Formats: sequence, C-alpha cells, structure tokens
Amino acid sequence: MRIWLWFLGAAAALSVLAALTAPASTGALNLVLLALFVGAAGAALIRRRPEPRAGWWLMFSGVAASAASTYLLALVPHAPEELGAGYFLCYPLTAAGLWLVAKRLRPWSSTRILDTGIVLIGIAQLNWIFVLYPLLHRSGLEPVHAWSVSLIAVCDLVTIALLLRFAMAVRRSPVALLLLASIGVMVSSDAFYIVKYVAGRGTAVISSFSAVGWLVWTLLFAAAALHPDAEGALRRARRSGADYGTPIGAFIALALLGPGLLVADLVLRRGVDPWRHALVPAVLTGALMVSMVLRLGRALQDRTNLQQELAFRAQHDVLTGLANRELFRTSLQGELDAHREIGLLIIDLDGFKDVNDTLGHPAGDELLLTAAERLRATADAASLLARLGGDEFAVICPPDQLDDIAAALVRELALPYRVAGREQRISASIGVYSGHPVTTGDALQSADIALYAAKEAGRNRAVRYHPALREAHVAHTVLADQLRAAVEAGVGFAMHYQPVVDVPTGRVTAVEALLRFTTPDGIAVSPAVFVPVAEETGLIGKLGSWVLEQSCADAKAWHDEHGISVTVNVSGRQLRNPHFADEVLAVLKRTGLPGAALVLEITETVLVTASLEETAEVSRRLARLRAFGIRIAIDDFGTGYSSLAYLRTLPLDVLKIDRAFVHRIEERQDQALFRAVVELARSMYLTPVAEGVETPGQAAVLRSLDCALAQGFLFARPMPAPALAEFLQQEQVAVAA
Ligand code: C2E
Ligand code: MG
Ligand code: MG
Repeated sequence: MRIWLWFLGAAAALSVLAALTAPASTGALNLVLLALFVGAAGAALIRRRPEPRAGWWLMFSGVAASAASTYLLALVPHAPEELGAGYFLCYPLTAAGLWLVAKRLRPWSSTRILDTGIVLIGIAQLNWIFVLYPLLHRSGLEPVHAWSVSLIAVCDLVTIALLLRFAMAVRRSPVALLLLASIGVMVSSDAFYIVKYVAGRGTAVISSFSAVGWLVWTLLFAAAALHPDAEGALRRARRSGADYGTPIGAFIALALLGPGLLVADLVLRRGVDPWRHALVPAVLTGALMVSMVLRLGRALQDRTNLQQELAFRAQHDVLTGLANRELFRTSLQGELDAHREIGLLIIDLDGFKDVNDTLGHPAGDELLLTAAERLRATADAASLLARLGGDEFAVICPPDQLDDIAAALVRELALPYRVAGREQRISASIGVYSGHPVTTGDALQSADIALYAAKEAGRNRAVRYHPALREAHVAHTVLADQLRAAVEAGVGFAMHYQPVVDVPTGRVTAVEALLRFTTPDGIAVSPAVFVPVAEETGLIGKLGSWVLEQSCADAKAWHDEHGISVTVNVSGRQLRNPHFADEVLAVLKRTGLPGAALVLEITETVLVTASLEETAEVSRRLARLRAFGIRIAIDDFGTGYSSLAYLRTLPLDVLKIDRAFVHRIEERQDQALFRAVVELARSMYLTPVAEGVETPGQAAVLRSLDCALAQGFLFARPMPAPALAEFLQQEQVAVAA
C-alpha cells in the first residue's frame, strides 16, 4: 500500500510538471512518463493477474495503443497522419475491456441492455446537436479531420455508455473507482479536444490540456493495476442483491433533454437547415421512446417478480426453501377445516447444537441444507415439508404413509454428513402423530411429546404418540420445575457416600459421592431419573458445583484420618465448561483436600455425542487436572459402544466396570468376558473397579480374577456422611482386631 501511494503521488506530481513545461503531447517529460506508466501497468498485469484477465488486458491494450501513436507521431520525423491510428484503436479496445469487466460483474439481461441503450441514445442526441451536426455542416473544415473527429465523438459515445454500465454494476472500491476515473478522464479529454476543434478554427492540433488528460488516463490505469487489492477487487466488487432500481427520473430527463436542446438550438441558430438538423434527433427520440416503453414494461415485470419473491419469503424458510412455521400452521389448519385425518411428523436433529457451537454457523447451515435435501428426497410430493426453526422440521403427510416415511427419515438423516470439509455424524429423533385433533396446537403438542419420548428413549428413532406419553411428559415437566426451585432455594439435596473396598483385605480405599434428591412432598427421586433432567435444563452446572464442594469438604476429614479418596461423578455438561478445571482446583484449595485424594468419574456416553474438537478440549482439561494428582475414572464401562476408542484418547487412571458385567459373573461365559475387560484395563495401566457387587459368590470370583477393588451392596450401601464416618471408624476397629 505504501509503495502504491508513493507511486501515485510522485506520478501525479510529475504529470503536473509535464503539463506546465511541455506545451504539447510531444514534450520529452510527457513521453518519459507515458512509457513509465504503460510499463508499470503492463508489469502489474503480468505479475498480479487481476480478474477478469481478458478485460484488464483489453483496457491495457487501449492505453498502450494510444501511447504508441503518441510516440510514433512525436519521434518519426514528418510523421504521416496514419500513425495516429492508435488513437482510434484505443476506443474499441477500451470499450471491449469495459464490456467484459461489466459483464463479469453482472451478466447482461434484457433490462440492462435496455438501460444501456437508453443512455446511449440520450448521449447520442447531445452528440448530434453539439458535435456531429456542426462538424458535418460547417464549411472550411478539412474533411479528413472533420470525419476523424466525428469518429472519435461516436467512439466516446459508446465508451461513455459502457462506462455507465460498468459504474452501475460495480460496488465502490478503490480499484473500481480508479478504473472509472481513468476512463472518465480519457473521455473528458476527448470531449475537450472535440469541443475545441468544433469551436476553433479547424486545427487538429492536440492541446496540452488534452495531452495531460491522456497522460492522467494512463497514470490512473496503472494505479488501478498496481493497487494492492487489484487481483480480486473486481470479483469482490460484484454488487449483490437485486437489480438496481429503475432510474425513471433520469430516463425522463434524458428523453426531454434531447428534444429540448434541439428546439433551443434551432431557435438560436436560425441559419441552419432546420429539417435536416432535426431529422436525426427525431429518429433518436423515437427510438428512445420505444426503449423507454419497453423498459418500463420490464420494470413492472420486475416489480411483479419482486412481489412474488416477497410472498414466497413470507411463507418459506430462507435457508432451506421449505415451508416456514406460518405456512405450516395454515396448511395444518386447512387439513383440520377439511375434517381430514392428520398425519404429522416433528423431526429434531440430535446434537445439532454441538455442530453449530464447535464448527460454526456456516457449517451448521450446510448441515441443515443437506438435511432438508434428504427430507425432500424421502418424503413424497403429497407431503408438506416445513422448517419450524433451528434444527426442527415438520412433515404433514397422508396418515397411511406416516410410519414408512418416519422410518425412512430416521435412516436417511443418520447417514454421514459432509460439513466444513469433513464427515459429521448426526441422527434424528422423530415424533409421530396421527388423528383428528381439535386444534393445530393439540396436534403439535402431541407430536412434540412423542418427539420428547424419542429423545428420552435414546434418540435416533421415531416414536408414535400415545396418551400414556403425555403423563410421562407432565411428570417430567413437574420434576424439572421442582429441581429448579430446589436448586434456587438450596434445599432438597444431600450427598450419600458408598465405600469402594479392597476385596482381599476388606479395607475401604475410597468412597463414591452420590447425589440424593427429595421432592417437597418427601419423595426420594433416583439420580438416574433426575440427573438427566438437570443436565437437560442446565441446572447441573450449579448442582455439580455444589456436589464437588460438599464431597471434598466431607472427604477432607476421612482422608486425613483413614487415607481414603473420594470419587465424584461429573456430567458432560460440566466437562464442556471451559472453567471446569479452574473450578475443581479452587475447590481443592478451599477445602484443603489434596488432589491425589480426588477421583473424577465421567461416563463415556458423555463423549459419544461430542465432536472430535470437543473431545480434544475435554482431554486437555482433564490432563491439566491430572497434573495436580487428580485421577480420572471412566464410569459404567461397557455400556457404551465406542468404549475402546475413548480409552485411548482420554487421559484415564481408573476403569469402573458396569454392574451388567458383574451381575452374572459366576457363569462361565460372563466370567470370560469380565476377565477380558480386567486384562484390557491392566494392559492400559488402568485400575479396574467392579461395580454393583451384591453376593459373596461374586466377590469370590473377583478375588480369583485378581480384580481387587469393588463396590456394591454386599460391602455397603450409599449412606449419609455421619453414617459413613461411623462405618469407617468401625472398620478400623475391625481391622485392628
Ligand atoms: P454410578 O456413578 O454408576 O453410581 C453407582 C450406582 O450404582 C449408584 O446408584 C449406586 O447406588 C448403585 N449401586 C451401588 N452398589 C450397587 C449394587 O450392589 N447393586 C445395585 N443394583 N446398585 C448398586 P445411584 O446412587 O442411584 O446413582 C445412579 C447414577 O446417577 C450414578 O451411577 C451416576 O451416574 C449418577 N449420579 C449420582 N450422583 C451424581 C452426581 O453427583 N453427579 C452426576 N453427574 N451424576 C450422579
Ligand atoms: Mg459413578
Ligand atoms: Mg457406575
């Protein structure tokens, strides 16, 4: 940018100097500068290759052709006038370049052709009145000069029309403005030259003003080509959005200007033959009228199209083109009014929010587009497809096809998606409803309840609405409300602790902290029920912090006295919080519990729905905590499906084998499986812990398999802190005895 500004400044200063010192185009400084600018522009085009390349090169050829003529006329002694051919060549070249550039920005359409035509005719009228007619009808001019000046005037006419077309197509940017200015200066210099010729005594000598004008044209062109932004400037300058409006005022002015000036001219110059003078403008005015009628017709058509577009947008989703909520509701209402049985699907993409959050909104949009395409391809033409917002879609279809379409959609939507250049897996849950609802709201609510049940049942499936689901749904909502109130008031929650024992010695090595919740009516709700609700509602954040603080505070004394650790369950949502590690470290500091006495338990299901980035983030967070001696356990191992992958990617210390493996451990087959898991844990330097040990028989097998650590009702049930303190005391006595 710096160099470019220097070039522009120095060159402009030198050009002014050239204008002052050399009276005509043949001045030495003028010639040197011309060579410099043409050379710079050419070098810039070769190096930068701005787009569209043909357009730039054509405009450059125009500049170069004009410069070549200047050189030939200045340097060749007694140069014949034919050497000035380059001055004429520069117009078709420049015009063709402008044409290409403008076309690249905005392809021609009948509207744009008409607009350009109207401008062209309007300028042609002025041209006729002020230049061509006087030139052709004045005596005493050398015919060759008169004709060549007329030709230049016509060439300028076309160039101006194309320049305006370019100006209308381009958005304001330095490069576009420089190009506009450069060709504008060129045309203005011509105009000056022509006017001077017409008014003057018939000399074809180029004035120094015009000579400097052409120099500045070359300079500005070189500046545009050299601009640091030149490569993509015109590509980026492409105007977006709808066509520019109809400049009706400008058209009317143009239409009136020609005839008006003509009349004035006829009145003022009474000497000339009025009929021959008026013939050409009359024809032009006729052409102008026809063009304007056509153009206004197009404007009306454009308006109708716009209205249709607006009407479409009012009823459709802009991103996917599917029906929007409004159209969906009216269609559903239409079905109700016609007393037809309604078939309705509500579709929600599972884990879409994570894609949006981790890969960004453009990637999310891409995924939604693909999902919408699959929806179109799967549901038949008789269905109405709608996007209700976010990642929620709906289908209204014939009730007899409802289940088939739902099943096909579950299958299709679960196929891998290509998003942001990589493969992404996501599934869909679908609520299915058919019947004769009283209102559209009833139908929607029923389908929503079924959708909720599909999510609850593990996602990636369709569930049909059933009245029993409604009760479950109500219960769920009540529980969510109770939890929210309890978290706010800080009541209803308590921690229980269940010992983890070393089977051969019977010693307690750790306790697992388990959260308990009692509703205001005194009903104890299982964490297996309320923890997922707390996760869904976001309450787990606050609740989890309390659990951590309470557990570490309780465990401090037990650790000091008995050397045992505490293991705390952590939910996925907590792990995904960027401040999680800081929070854990702060709790340790406050409670005085050493890091080595804390184990964090995470379930693998937490990670299955996460993206790769998220898993990496979580791994980093856990690794940081491990540096403080905190251990990480994977909970309920064996219940997820991608367990082994996570064992490798996550920094882990402990592997808690789910009680489903322990339950029938006394049978031979299950025993083999259990042993395989224990060996796997050992091979990865993880400490295995068996969960849910209920019988002495199971404990005996564990001992034989060398899985020392276990937890279960056989040893102790979860109990409140005072009970546990007593339990530890007694255990010590027993061991001592
Ligand atoms: P978990 O982490 O696998 O906890 C072990 C569960 O197994 C506990 O159920 C415990 O009472 C039960 N259990 C222990 N021994 C036996 C046995 O011998 N037989 C049987 N049948 N069950 C046994 P609980 O307390 O109902 O907790 C259920 C789940 O709720 C926990 O599974 C854990 O995933 C979650 N949870 C509990 N507290 C918290 C918490 O503070 N935060 C989070 N995020 N989740 C928690
Ligand atoms: Mg646990
Ligand atoms: Mg468990």
